[in-house]
Amino acid sequence: MRTFVYQGLPARVIFGVGTLARLPEEVERLGVRSALVLCTPGQREAAEEVARQLGERCTGIYDQAVMHVPIETAEDARRVAAELRADCCVAVGGGSTIGLGKAIALTSALPILAVPTTFAGSEMTPIYGLTEAGVKRTGRDARVLPRTVIYDPTLTVTLPAAIAGPSGMNAIAHAVEALYAQDANPVTSLMAEESIRALADTLPRVVRDPQDVAAASDALYGAWLAGICLGTVGMALHHKLCHTLGGSFNLPHAEMHTIVLPHSVAYNRCTAPQAMAQISRALGGADPAAGLYDLAQRLGAPMALADIGMPADGLARAADLATQNPYFNPRPIDRDAILALLQAAHAGLRPTPAGT
Ligand code: NAD
Repeated sequence: MRTFVYQGLPARVIFGVGTLARLPEEVERLGVRSALVLCTPGQREAAEEVARQLGERCTGIYDQAVMHVPIETAEDARRVAAELRADCCVAVGGGSTIGLGKAIALTSALPILAVPTTFAGSEMTPIYGLTEAGVKRTGRDARVLPRTVIYDPTLTVTLPAAIAGPSGMNAIAHAVEALYAQDANPVTSLMAEESIRALADTLPRVVRDPQDVAAASDALYGAWLAGICLGTVGMALHHKLCHTLGGSFNLPHAEMHTIVLPHSVAYNRCTAPQAMAQISRALGGADPAAGLYDLAQRLGAPMALADIGMPADGLARAADLATQNPYFNPRPIDRDAILALLQAAHAGLRPTPAGT
């Protein structure tokens, strides 16, 4: 018999090729008069296009978004938003840019309209992160959930393959952990399985031909579902490990998720059989852990923590940190087993398929 709690999040989603053209009517709907457009330095051109669409409703562009939202950047952007009397942030970019919008919303309650350009999924969550003195603090706050999200796949076709593949695997990680979350529920699980299926089918095409808009659209659809999973249920061991590695060793976010995910799944394989069956079905019948490893390899992603800057002599400290205040996880957290997991991920080993 089923017992569950399901709490949906209020967000308006506009999805489809060319939907960026609907930006003016969407800001009108929010009653916005002076939007501040946010982007990274590298996405200035995309932000200028958005500003052009907004016309007189754009009060300026802030182009200093960077990874992990340093508190100094957040405070500078908050100051600019206040000086320009912005009444909305339009965040055009990946998790870093949307994260900056969230940092502004956290203290000002300005609404966010997000225009995602990666597969990270931050636009569908009320989760924010801020980095101060090298420590990343995350939290949940309803004020930071974007009110409106415009998913236009033509904006992801500029993603270099080297960013697109890991970004898609980062999305898969949200869906995978939703399947064995403490508060997993039938609605989120349906979305999670569909998300993994869509991304696993499509990412190889996206990486082979980034200009393939149909493939980009399918991948963005999977990423949207994964973002809902991340925003709706709690995450487990895998996200705890990545939070630790990212925060304490400053590893690149999406690549780190890509490398660790097959090993996190292998760790939980025996204790979450229903979730594993769903992951396997979404991967076309492959072993969940080895199948995710093989997918990442097909995408040309980095496969070993050693290759993305993780020092071998930091693994024991990472295992200590990751096992302090652990998140919920279906398999109890054992420090030695976590160290073994990290060593396998550091070396880039392929998890042994179950039953072999
Ligand atoms: P990102 O936003 O840092 O983008 C990576 C790089 O790709 C940047 O240089 C960016 O300018 C560039 N880029 C983005 N889209 C592009 C495009 N379409 N074409 C060309 N270049 C493009 O990377 P990300 O993986 O999207 O986000 C990572 C950050 O988001 C991390 O800090 C992570 O913690 C956070 N995050 C937060 C949540 C949440 O719910 N709060 C969820 C996922 C990720």
